Parts: sequence; structure tokens; C-alpha cells
Amino acid sequence: MSTQTQTPAITEDTARHVLWHYGRDGGMQPGSYTERLMETIDAADVVNAEILRGAYPELVAAMLTAKNDIGGVEQLQQIAGGLRCIRCKDTDGPFGGAPQQPLCEACLKVGA
Ligand SMILES: [Zn+2]
Repeated sequence: MSTQTQTPAITEDTARHVLWHYGRDGGMQPGSYTERLMETIDAADVVNAEILRGAYPELVAAMLTAKNDIGGVEQLQQIAGGLRCIRCKDTDGPFGGAPQQPLCEACLKVGA
């Protein structure tokens, strides 16, 4: 038995779905199954979250990222391509700056 602590790669679609679930920018409503699945994962305690992680490793990882990680939502927005520069509101990456205050490359150069 291996103790898996590695985070699976989160796809663009999953990032969008999770952002939608939490009502964040860059979200996209999934099908009703995924929608309910995310509600279930959200409601799960630690034991049940781990059981669900076995079946849906990517989705659970993405949801925990959004819920628990500092800058997790921004991370998902970056994956989803929905990140916006706080200065020029551009969505073109790559982004830098603090996770809560993303700046596009051009704005980083100019200095916000
Ligand atoms: Zn910018």
C-alpha cells in the first residue's frame, strides 16, 4: 500500500467547475452529476473525503486547493485561464506578484 500525498494534475475543466462551485471568477457550471458530486465532497468529513478522493482524486484535490490553500483559488483561476491582472484587468498570463494580487507580465515590468 502506498501513501499517496501527491496532488494529481488539475485540468482546466475541473478548475473551472470548482471555481463555479465556490462562486469565484473564471468558473463554469458542470453537468448535474459533477455539480452534486462537488456538493457531496464539500459536505464530506475527513474520512469520507478520503474515500471520495480514491474515486475522484483530481476533483477532491482541486476542491481542497480552493478551500484550504492560501492562494488556492488564484491557482485554480490560473489553471482555468480566468486570472485577471489587478491593474489592467487583462487575462493574458503569465502572472506574477502576490497570489491575491496577480499582475500580468507587462504590469509587473512597469510596476503597479
Ligand atoms: Zn496588467
